[in-house]
Amino acid sequence: MHTGPAKSPSRRLRTIAVRFVRPSLLAAALVIAALYAAWGVVYWNETRTPRLACLMYHRFATRAEFRACHGDERLYTVDVERFESHLARLRELGYHFVRLAEAVAFVRGERDLPQPAVLITIDDGCRSVLTRAAPVLRRLGARATLFLTTDPDAYVFDEGGKEQTQLMPHDLQALAAEGTFDFGAHGVTHRPLRELSDVELAGELETSRAAIELAVGAPVEAMAVPGNWYDDRVLEFARKAGYGAVFVSDPGTNRAGDDATRVRRLNVSGDVTAATLADQLGPAAMARRRLTFALQRAVRDTLGPATAGALTWAAGVLLPRHDDRLAAAGVGLGAAIPGIIVLSLRMRARAKRRRDATMHQTGAIRP
Ligand SMILES: [Zn+2]
Repeated sequence: MHTGPAKSPSRRLRTIAVRFVRPSLLAAALVIAALYAAWGVVYWNETRTPRLACLMYHRFATRAEFRACHGDERLYTVDVERFESHLARLRELGYHFVRLAEAVAFVRGERDLPQPAVLITIDDGCRSVLTRAAPVLRRLGARATLFLTTDPDAYVFDEGGKEQTQLMPHDLQALAAEGTFDFGAHGVTHRPLRELSDVELAGELETSRAAIELAVGAPVEAMAVPGNWYDDRVLEFARKAGYGAVFVSDPGTNRAGDDATRVRRLNVSGDVTAATLADQLGPAAMARRRLTFALQRAVRDTLGPATAGALTWAAGVLLPRHDDRLAAAGVGLGAAIPGIIVLSLRMRARAKRRRDATMHQTGAIRP
């Protein structure tokens, strides 16, 4: 058996570096460059005005109750004093609290909104909206939109005690009469709409709307998708059922002429302070959230939830959180370095090809 001359250890290391390390570094540089480029596009979109921010709340608790909340409960429960600080901060920053009809008309491109504009939305329809959030909204002269789940036995009313049970029809009548709230639908049972049969899906969309219209005495033209469990079929059914606007929980703000059947909202969890909320509404933070959300959604089904989680975590670490010059410079540099590497590698490859071609031609000419 023929064997070639033994390779020295340093040469072997060089071979490994050329074969594996360099392509991996190049791939990583390309991924990072693509990430920053995508961030740049979304960031540019987020800096455009006029725009509409929609915030999403669920339950309101006392400070003591909130301290007892753990895990996911903290995502959907806000201490009512903190809720007041959120609204006060938004008011200080000059935000205008808009009504549902104004928000929908703006997204459809039918009217302007005073800037900056915010729509406060509250999902499910727990009693704590009446007992805790409504007095705060009244005090600050703000308004909100309630997206109501109509079945009192829906699981969203199971936890949190008496204050988190469903609002009664006479509560809704009282809230409708005072003018602080607008109303939209949020399914009958709060089940994942995309998993339902055609008949069940149509039933959820139509029955919930009819029940709310009966309670508040006004037409209901908007809905929010429970749990953000939606797909194209769900949106198509919603349009067919006559909903002119569908609110989802994809993060980001909205611009005139955007798709009114996919209005973006930002969930405000209980751990968010007033200062953090103001920061989260900035274009840099919003673009980062939009991109990590899109990445998570795009890779979850193909690469599995663990890899998707790791990738979105890495993207979250790499992308800037604040709107400052340092962040912009970091993105510029981050995007430039992989670009320079790619360009220099391409130039080297082209030079090598040219050299090979010249050698080949000289060989062909030789008699
Ligand atoms: Zn909900």
